[in-house]
Amino acid sequence: MRFSSLFLDKSLTDAVEALGYERPTPVQAQAIPEILEGKDVMAGAQTGTGKTAAFALPILQLLLKHTQSLRPIRALVLTPTRELAQQVFNSFVAYAENTQLNVAVAYGGVSINPQIAAIEQGVDVLVATLGRLLDHIAKGSVDVSQLQVIVFDEADRMLDMGFKDEINRILKRLPEQRQTLLFSATFDDAIFRMSKTLLINPVLIEVNERNAAATQIEQLFYTVDKDRKRELTSFLIGSKNWQQVLIFTRTKQTADALAKEMCKDGIKTESIHGDKSQGARERALAEFKQGKVRALVATDVAARGIDIIDLQYVINYELPFVAEDYIHRIGRTGRAGNTGLAVSLMSPNEKYLLDAVEKVLGAALISQWLPGYEPDLSKQNQAEKRSNTGKQRKQARNKALGIKMGRKRR
Ligand code: AMP
Repeated sequence: MRFSSLFLDKSLTDAVEALGYERPTPVQAQAIPEILEGKDVMAGAQTGTGKTAAFALPILQLLLKHTQSLRPIRALVLTPTRELAQQVFNSFVAYAENTQLNVAVAYGGVSINPQIAAIEQGVDVLVATLGRLLDHIAKGSVDVSQLQVIVFDEADRMLDMGFKDEINRILKRLPEQRQTLLFSATFDDAIFRMSKTLLINPVLIEVNERNAAATQIEQLFYTVDKDRKRELTSFLIGSKNWQQVLIFTRTKQTADALAKEMCKDGIKTESIHGDKSQGARERALAEFKQGKVRALVATDVAARGIDIIDLQYVINYELPFVAEDYIHRIGRTGRAGNTGLAVSLMSPNEKYLLDAVEKVLGAALISQWLPGYEPDLSKQNQAEKRSNTGKQRKQARNKALGIKMGRKRR
């Protein structure tokens, strides 16, 4: 299939051609015709599948058909993070390059005034994070009463980040007559519940198996002692001459400490997380993209929306506590049909986190030892004896697997 068979305006097909897109990705081929028909759509597609163009192109087409001189906001795209908002905005700007449509972006962490000034010029499409959108609504700088289309992008992440109240507050402001599109990397009960309050008779589109990670990503799992993870990370990057490696940690403290230690190993590394200013995050990301920084250590939230088309390597320095995050993490590589490699490091007592990932992926995952980095199991046995019967570990394991611990019956 070619873009020309999707009945898009020439201004849009010219723009995607200029970006080097030859044919629509599966989610684009399926979603674009449904959205053009005005239907509500619920699409299961992770980042890297071309999901942004899957909603951006038909939205621009619909707005093109009826241009309005007063330019009320007619399309709103909500994202869970600032980085994703910026990313989606950049895509909209590129796709709308040959049109007269105006696009603006609004997210927190930066001054609201330039955003107000941009919106006052009149915008057709606004891309926003939820909190900042509510700030604008409260100030009266954004009016969503004329909205025709709303997109919830990475809706699963919005729920994970606890944005349910914000979603409900925004919903109250929206016109009842509207088209609603919901994109999510994973589908679970919470997403289906959310979809019931948002969408009317949605068309359900799933481009991969439910919750499946992109198939072109090779996944490796190494069991290694916790205190040798850094050494192994630097060894892999150095000995295999990997450039541009995205590394995930669970906490901001580990991200900072790891970046510092890796610099000492001679690998130029930066960290990004929620405690860093927007400016510092953008700078680190830009340097990483330009290849000035070889490794970027990120927490899950900060890494959301990072779009580097040819990023080849992702290292999970620590597996996530929320197994679905594994899919988001490795989805940073293997984008738009490229191949990728995702390496996960686990200490022997983190095996339960791998079990949880297996459950989400519905596939058996095999962990291995790397020669020279074999875990010292005698250390493990001693530690287990010391820990009070491993109860805490068991609780954490059950939490990750979604098992509730009941009280023993007397
Ligand atoms: P997304 O899933 O929207 O984050 O897109 C992932 C990457 O794929 C982005 O860098 C897009 O520019 C790129 N992309 C989107 N659609 C296509 C396409 N049809 N052909 C080639 N690349 C694409």
